[in-house]
Amino acid sequence: MASAPSPRHSTSLALGVPPRVRFCPSPTGNPHVGLVRTALFNWAFARHHQGTLVFRIEDTDAARDSEESYNQLLDAMRWLGFDWDEGPEVGGPHAPYRQSQRMDIYQDVAAKLLDAGHAYHCYCSQEELDTRREAARAAGKPSGYDGHCRDLTAEQVEEYKAQGRTPIVRFRMPDETITFTDLVRGELTFTPENVPDYGIVRANGAPLYTLVNPVDDALMEITHVLRGEDLLSSTPRQIALYKALIDLGIAQQVPAFGHLPYVMGEGNKKLSKRDPQSSLNLYRERGFLPEGLLNYLSLLGWSLSADQDIFSIDEMVAAFDIGDVNPNPARFDLKKCESINADHIRLLDVKDFTERCAPWLKAPFAPWAPEDFDESKWEAIAPHAQTRLKVLSEITENVDFLFLAEPVEDEASWTKAMKEGSDALLATAREKLESADWTSPESLKEAVLAAGEAHGLKLGKAQAPVRVAVTGRTVGLPLFESLEILGKEKTLARIDTALAKLSA
Ligand code: GLU
Ligand code: ZN
Repeated sequence: MASAPSPRHSTSLALGVPPRVRFCPSPTGNPHVGLVRTALFNWAFARHHQGTLVFRIEDTDAARDSEESYNQLLDAMRWLGFDWDEGPEVGGPHAPYRQSQRMDIYQDVAAKLLDAGHAYHCYCSQEELDTRREAARAAGKPSGYDGHCRDLTAEQVEEYKAQGRTPIVRFRMPDETITFTDLVRGELTFTPENVPDYGIVRANGAPLYTLVNPVDDALMEITHVLRGEDLLSSTPRQIALYKALIDLGIAQQVPAFGHLPYVMGEGNKKLSKRDPQSSLNLYRERGFLPEGLLNYLSLLGWSLSADQDIFSIDEMVAAFDIGDVNPNPARFDLKKCESINADHIRLLDVKDFTERCAPWLKAPFAPWAPEDFDESKWEAIAPHAQTRLKVLSEITENVDFLFLAEPVEDEASWTKAMKEGSDALLATAREKLESADWTSPESLKEAVLAAGEAHGLKLGKAQAPVRVAVTGRTVGLPLFESLEILGKEKTLARIDTALAKLSA
């Protein structure tokens, strides 16, 4: 690769026809955030330009693909709110959209490529390839495939067959420099010695990603390939294959390519699929909102404007331009992701918020018995929770004091809040609370304030033991609203229990 990345540049695509883009994951393992970012940029691009999003499943690797992972992919797309115009479950003119169901197509194309001389049989054994690669390396030469089987004679082929060798199919790269203008990176050039002939069909007849991906892009009339930078090295090969497909009348035009920047994780290392931080399921389980997560992921390589971090998916779609994507690696910052999610939680209407919390208010997350859940208490406390959560799963421990018979026992909180004199303070607070007006949090605050004054304590210090006595924890939702919603009887009983524990 000879040329340096171009600086950030804006391409206003002259799109004569609506674009056709694709999202084509392989169903291996759990969906990860890198994959979601790729889906998002393709989806936003398609929607911005009123184009078509093709969702294709690249499941030609039977050893690694699984039905479970396929189902997770579909579920993830639905959860994220992405729709697709062609693909699994919706069908389309190029069905089927699962590559495992298209094997005869690839066989047919491979045969045509062989017939036309764009590909050839390679009989080299792995051992031979390795030996020659090592020798080339030692001699300081390019170490890719050396073209050994490019022009075998009929006798050589017979000889190999007689030895019982089964060939792979190898694509014949043209001896020419390949240049293309990446939508994100600008002009890129690859010289032939860096792009050797490559395998497209295994010896057992199984077609490889290198073949099926561009073949389907051609057949499905994809105009723009937007994908991760990790696939950049396969692009010159695919462009050459595309040209061969055009020659065969299978493809019409080479698509435009745009390679999205790497996502870096901890320690400035590439965020890997195996990194727990990259698993989409983790974000779902922790209660990220899809809109919060997508807002954050859109910032991995793109921005709406210098002074607006929080925006809706519709705002993103309206503004999205692939030419604005920054080629430099993007850093995944969990704190920032949480903070953006928190902002999206604030933006929900309160009814929506209460509904979205529902999974965390029952088993297996909720520690209380289902019959102890009180809908009216929940509705009363929800608005106070909505302004404080970063992720929805935090709701459980913030409201458990309302539905558990006794507050949780958190020893660290107890030790922190219960100091010498806390018993006296609690006793006074109990007395004042007993005669307070329980229809107003203000009145409850006055009561605790007065108790604090009686013992020479400011409000903050005075309320800590009350909070721990009633909720079990030193941090939580606004205290006086919490007390009001819990109710007088339970509040006083819990203070009594704490007093008993302190005197024991
Ligand atoms: N199935 C490939 C992958 O998941 C798709 C790559 C591409 O977008 O070309 O890596
Ligand atoms: Zn060979």
